[in-house]
Amino acid sequence: MSDKLVEAPTGEKVPEKDLWKFREPYRVHKREEHFEAVLGGSCHCGEVKFQLSRETPLASKLCHCTTCQKQHAAPFQWAAIFHKGDINFHDGHHHLEWYDPTSKSIEHQLPCKVRCKYCHSPIMDEGRNMILMFPSLIDFPDKTARDRFKPRCHMFYPQRVMDIPDGLPKWSGINEDSDLIEDSPPEQIKELERKRKEKVEEEVHPGQRE
Ligand SMILES: [Zn+2]
Ligand SMILES: [Zn+2]
Repeated sequence: MSDKLVEAPTGEKVPEKDLWKFREPYRVHKREEHFEAVLGGSCHCGEVKFQLSRETPLASKLCHCTTCQKQHAAPFQWAAIFHKGDINFHDGHHHLEWYDPTSKSIEHQLPCKVRCKYCHSPIMDEGRNMILMFPSLIDFPDKTARDRFKPRCHMFYPQRVMDIPDGLPKWSGINEDSDLIEDSPPEQIKELERKRKEKVEEEVHPGQRE
C-alpha cells in the first residue's frame, strides 16, 4: 500500500493506502443497493449515525478483559457481532477515529477500536472479518428488539471485577477457544468436553472416523 493516487469507488482520487475507507464497514450503501435498515443508532453527540440490516446479531457477549475495562471505563463490555456488510454509517469513515490496543497506534489497522472523533463514544471493535458493535448505541424501538441483543455468554471471566451469577456460559478467554468455568451451565460444559474429546481422537486416529 502506498501514497500512489488511485480512483476510489466514489470517483475521487485517493492514496492507495486509504482505500479501506471506501470498503465495508465504512462503505456508504447507495439507495439502489437495497440496504434494508432494520435498526439505527448513534454516538452520544450524534455526529456518528449508522443503520443495521440485521435485527438479530450473530452473537452477543460480555467481555471482562482488562483492556475492555480500561477502554470503556466500565466493569465489562457488551458487544454484538455482525458481518462488516451489515452496518451502514451515514457518513462512511468521517467523524470516526481508530486505536489499535496492541501497537497503541491511532492508524487504522486491524483489529482496532473505533470511536466518535468528537464525543469519543466507543462505536465498535473492527476485526479482520467481523465487527463487534456496542448495542448501547442502538435506538431500540421496543423491548422485543432489545431482547434480541441479550448477552449469550461471558468472555475473559477470570479478569472480572464482579461476579454475575446469571447462568450464562462463562469462558476463561475467547469463547469456544477457552474453558467454560465458574457457574456455566453443566450440560454445556459436558458438551464442550465431548467435542474436545472427539477432536483429540480425530487427531490421534486420523482417517478412522469415516
Ligand atoms: Zn459523537
Ligand atoms: Zn475485552
